[in-house]
Amino acid sequence: MSVEAGASWSHGDLKFHGMSLSGIRTCIAMPELSLAFDVAQGFPFSLNLKHFFLSHGHLDHSAGIPYIISQKAMTSQAPAHFYMPKSLVDPMQRIMNIWMEIEKHTYEFHFHGVEENEIIPVGQNLFIKPFKTIHRVDSLGYTLFQKKRKLKKEFCNLSQNEIVDLKNKGVTLQDDLETPLVSFTGDTQIEFLDQCDWVKKSKVLFLEATYLDERKLVSSAREWGHTHLDEIIPRLDTLECEKIVIIHVSSRYPTPEATKILTAKIPERFKDRVVLFPGR
Ligand SMILES: [Zn+2]
Ligand SMILES: [Zn+2]
Repeated sequence: MSVEAGASWSHGDLKFHGMSLSGIRTCIAMPELSLAFDVAQGFPFSLNLKHFFLSHGHLDHSAGIPYIISQKAMTSQAPAHFYMPKSLVDPMQRIMNIWMEIEKHTYEFHFHGVEENEIIPVGQNLFIKPFKTIHRVDSLGYTLFQKKRKLKKEFCNLSQNEIVDLKNKGVTLQDDLETPLVSFTGDTQIEFLDQCDWVKKSKVLFLEATYLDERKLVSSAREWGHTHLDEIIPRLDTLECEKIVIIHVSSRYPTPEATKILTAKIPERFKDRVVLFPGR
C-alpha cells in the first residue's frame, strides 16, 4: 500500500483514517463525519470531506489546503470549509490569491478563523470545540462533542402523562449532556493538558509525542514546542480517555521500533489504552 493511502483505526463507532509522522505529514480523517483534523499534503482519502480543522500552519499539517481546494473545483464539489487559528486566515488567503493568479482561475472556499471554546456544528448533535495548545506558532487542538438530551433525574419515575403535563406547563424536563468523543492535539507542549479538562475526558485522545527516548531529550522536545513520551507517562493517571492514540512520532523511530519503545515504557496498567496510530 502506498504511504499516501493512509491507514485505518477505530474504537467502537469512532472510525479514523489517516497518517501522522513528525515534520512530514499529519492528517487524521473521520470519513463518516466528513471531517479531518489537519490536511497533510492533501491526500486522496481526504478530497471528498467537507470540514477541515487545522491545528496550525506548519507545512506538514497545512500544505494540502490549496490542493484540496483545487480538487474540489475539478470534481464539481461544494467548496470546503477550513477552520484555523485566526492569525492564519490572512496569510492562507494571500497564498490562495497568488495561486489563483498563477492558475488564472477563481476558486471558491471558506476559511474560518476560530478561537478556543467556539462551537462549530458538524452534524446532527455533533459539534467541534477548539482548545488552546502550546506550539511555536499560533495553534489549536479540537474536540468532537456529542450532544444528548437526557430526562432529569427527578423526573425519571414519572408516568408518560405526568411528563406531558409538566411539559405543557413549560417545565424544563431534560438536561443537555455534552460528551467529548475525540480530541486531537496537533503539535503542542504537554502543558495544554493543564488548561482544558474536557480533553482528559475524551473517549479517544490523539496526542502528539514527537520523541520517545533519550536520542532526543525532553528539553529538545520543549524547545521545538513538542511533547516527549517521558512527559506523557507521569500524566497517564490523570487521563480518563479510553484510548490514547500517539501521533506525530519522529521518523527516526520506524514503526516496529516505536512500538517496541512504547511497549517497554508504558506501565502495564495503561498498555491496552495507549496505541501508536498505524498510519505514518
Ligand atoms: Zn508537525
Ligand atoms: Zn508544528
